[in-house]
Amino acid sequence: MADYEKILFKNIDHPGQDRIETYLKNGGYKAFEKAVKTMTPDEVTGEVVKSGLRGRGGAGFPTGRKWTFLPKDSSKPVYLTVNADESEPGTFKDRELMERDPHLVIEGTLITSYAIKCRTAFIYIRAEFTYAARQLNRAIEEARANGFIGKNILGRGIDIDIILHRGGGAYICGEETALLTSLEGGRGHPRVKPPFPAISGLYGAPTIINNVETLANIPHIVNRGGEWFASIGTEKSTGTKIFCLSGHVNKPGNYELPMGVSLRELIYDYGGGILDDRNLKAVIPGGSSVPVLTADKIDVHLDYESMAEAGSMLGSAGVIVMDETVCMVKAALNMMRFYKHESCGQCTPCHQGTYWLLRILDRIERGRGSMEDLDELIHICDNIDGNTICPLGDAATPGVRSTLQHFRDEYEYHIEHKKCKVSMAPRFV
Ligand code: SF4
Repeated sequence: MADYEKILFKNIDHPGQDRIETYLKNGGYKAFEKAVKTMTPDEVTGEVVKSGLRGRGGAGFPTGRKWTFLPKDSSKPVYLTVNADESEPGTFKDRELMERDPHLVIEGTLITSYAIKCRTAFIYIRAEFTYAARQLNRAIEEARANGFIGKNILGRGIDIDIILHRGGGAYICGEETALLTSLEGGRGHPRVKPPFPAISGLYGAPTIINNVETLANIPHIVNRGGEWFASIGTEKSTGTKIFCLSGHVNKPGNYELPMGVSLRELIYDYGGGILDDRNLKAVIPGGSSVPVLTADKIDVHLDYESMAEAGSMLGSAGVIVMDETVCMVKAALNMMRFYKHESCGQCTPCHQGTYWLLRILDRIERGRGSMEDLDELIHICDNIDGNTICPLGDAATPGVRSTLQHFRDEYEYHIEHKKCKVSMAPRFV
């Protein structure tokens, strides 16, 4: 098993890493000091551009380039919003960072605020993350007491405040514009884009929204340089990535590995292989919103480009492993239950489409479907994709499309034999 250098998880196992004394002892806040004392905001942005860091929330957009979209001449304040609303099924990396190394997240937030000239940054955290919220709140107060947050920071005339805001528990608030609406006090409804948040975001002011893992990389990039970061991973997918491994593996958990490692290495070397030595059947490689990969794709590399070539996406790197005992119809049904429940209801294709997809999947799984239902599933997916305000609509369809594409025989078996081909258990007729 290769021994890769850890960056984000470098100090996470140190006892007391969540307290500022230990964080400082391990070199914490040195990057922030370096940035404010020796670099201009544009130089910090330049290093991040050079690093090739791409957003770790799922979209993979280049982080430094996103910052450069802010208007130079706006009379409004600039806001930074940290997206800590981690809710994508199969994804649990931000939670570990916030719980076990909260100052790394705070330091990344401070450096980014300095780079984009933001004086008030918000962290929007998922409601259910009670412990992570407590850890972050304490870290904010410790950083304030040590002069890293507040007025005239480090005597350089810089003012930055960080405010933690707890969400209400809706998946849709992880979508950046829904997050902003919720932060403003409204119902978490996504907004039509453009305008993009960099131009008109929180309270109509220029706003950058970055994911927790993305920002946790920033102190390391400032400390060691953009070129160093770009030398890790692949040419277009630089750095390391925290892969959230779950499902039928012996050792589920978060693994920080360089971009471009193979799925085989993650599952068999780090994850200890499939439970009870059963056969691998399928993998959802980037959270439930991305297409399922079949077992023969086990040697695919985990980076943005290779995943696209293999017919899926890296997404949030929530790697869900399914062994031979999994019924793919039931898996698609479970995912659809989630999306139907989380649809905000603003647009008809998503609101109605997820409802009908769920109904049809449910009747197929119960052995009450017809062959026409299979065409109807695709027809509904076609009417959702690209026709909604936000990406939730498009996120709901890959589970249906890809399971139908790769495991159509299981759908047909449910319809013809009124039971599951995989478990062979009798179904309700
Ligand atoms: Fe709401 Fe779905 Fe439309 Fe997104 S796609 S705005 S979640 S109804």
